[in-house]
Amino acid sequence: MTYENTLPTKIQGSVRNSLIRLFQKWKGTTYVPPSTHEALKWSARDPLPLLSAVTDAHWQMISKDKKNKVVKDDTERVQTNFVTAKGSVPVNMKRKSANEETSETFKKQRTLKSHDTSASSSAGLLWDGDDYSCAYDALITVLYDTWTNNTDQWTKIFYGINQEHLKPLASGFKKYLMGVDDILLEDVRDVLRERLHAKHPTEFPTGAAGASVAGLAARIFHTNTTSASASVECTQCDYKEDLVDHRLGLVLHKMSNRSESTGSWLKNLEHHTSKKCPDCSQPLQKSISYDLPPPLLIFEINSNNITLSKAIGFEEDGMKLLQLKGMVYHGGFHFTSRIVSSDGAVWFNDGMTTGRQCGKDGDLETMSNRKLMKCRGKKLVLAVYTLV
Ligand SMILES: [Zn+2]
Repeated sequence: MTYENTLPTKIQGSVRNSLIRLFQKWKGTTYVPPSTHEALKWSARDPLPLLSAVTDAHWQMISKDKKNKVVKDDTERVQTNFVTAKGSVPVNMKRKSANEETSETFKKQRTLKSHDTSASSSAGLLWDGDDYSCAYDALITVLYDTWTNNTDQWTKIFYGINQEHLKPLASGFKKYLMGVDDILLEDVRDVLRERLHAKHPTEFPTGAAGASVAGLAARIFHTNTTSASASVECTQCDYKEDLVDHRLGLVLHKMSNRSESTGSWLKNLEHHTSKKCPDCSQPLQKSISYDLPPPLLIFEINSNNITLSKAIGFEEDGMKLLQLKGMVYHGGFHFTSRIVSSDGAVWFNDGMTTGRQCGKDGDLETMSNRKLMKCRGKKLVLAVYTLV
């Protein structure tokens, strides 16, 4: 394909695994070349997963210093909370539901290379010191990595959410990936930024001033297409109203300081209602739930009491899983990000220090909640989940 000039210039690799991985990121893992032999074909049922990022062995001088440090991970719970969709068995809100499952990963020792900062194939953005850009850099790093997991599918999803910001974002990502006009992710960012600044100049300022990354997420993912339902029930008797339609966005903002996981937060979305029960005059409770699992969901985190669920189950014609895909951190007037690649590796990016590279931070499975909630002294402010 390189010979025929039909391969984007971004797809280059000196060894086979990195070349195939880039090709998979371009075409999606479901793409089967037409000339593939019948016996070799893969499908959704028998998939060829995205090859994991393999760093080719590099030379290293052996010294007497301890090269490998052994890190003990805390025993941790891999949280998988299931959200009951409309029409399925009602969940008793007073106790943990029966379909909420947790599994334990046992204390195990992991050996991490002390200098494991090899670059992923994910891309970060260079921070703009004239017009502070870290809020955009952090979120776009997460979104670009999400989009490259299946470019066709995510382009469709982005178009479906909104045309104003996500359509140009997806086409900008495509141009960058294909090497069209030497477009950089920073150019894609600046176009988005100018559009937002023109419309909301105080919320998205230029110069040495910051923007709220949660506000940015809320603007970029503004949508009228997600549908959700609200159910109103009495807190005391069996009084229950019919389900009604309710608008729920893709960015969830924290309201209470309740200690909970993101999964139980999603399962117990409640909106205040001052209405009283017509039967017994006790307070009514209004619970909101998505009708279908959203393709992407962003939680704004502004409490230390949150446990980050690594996956959130959604019961809808079988089990759909929302996976933790990216995290944005804030502290010292600066945003950084972490992304979770499809093989579960966690990568760190800071436009100011790592720039366009991402450095490996560990594996999601073995990272404790404490490690996920903080990153190099900064606190978690956004958690991005995607449906896989
Ligand atoms: Zn009542």
